Amino acid sequence: MPPASPKRVGVLALQGDFEAHRKALAAVGASVVEVRTAAQLDGIDGLVIPGGESSTMLKLLDAENLTGALAEFGGRRPIFGTCAGAILLAKEVTRPAQASLALMDIDVERNAYGRQLDSRVTHIATEPEFGERTRPPSDLEAVFIRAPIIRRVGADARVLAWYQGDPVLVEQGKHLVATFHPELTPDLRVHELFMSKL
Ligand code: GLN
Repeated sequence: MPPASPKRVGVLALQGDFEAHRKALAAVGASVVEVRTAAQLDGIDGLVIPGGESSTMLKLLDAENLTGALAEFGGRRPIFGTCAGAILLAKEVTRPAQASLALMDIDVERNAYGRQLDSRVTHIATEPEFGERTRPPSDLEAVFIRAPIIRRVGADARVLAWYQGDPVLVEQGKHLVATFHPELTPDLRVHELFMSKL
């Protein structure tokens, strides 16, 4: 049998740290496509929405007529949102309130760790299921940069990792969000988990 062709994964490349995701996805065997137009969503198996500034990303999405196309794409294919990407996938966004794609039943508060703790590198605790579906160890190094806090997780969403009692890695069906930046650490398990959904 010929080897299976690699999964084609898009990275929304309008703004933010899409380059780090491109490298992480390539390292887990994806064929990576930078997405800047709605037409580039055709033929990809999943999409990563990177960190950056969610309010800026929203403006660029509207300017490129991509907002509706992304919502439609998320109705049929997996999306992985990190930090600003998680904010875009949430149902309700506060501080300040802003529009979102509402593809996941979670509510987020932006920049919720406050000025003193803008950014940090730390360890987070994963649910046993995370290690079972990827590999040990059970904890994960996590980089937070002006991160949101997930304030509500709906009944159909599942928390896979926690930090200081708040959910930081959540999945709902085919979609996945992280409030930290797994593309900035050498541990590829979160990207592997996303690949397993494609
Ligand atoms: N603070 C940013 C926002 O609210 C998110 C930061 C990030 O993606 N690292 O959109």
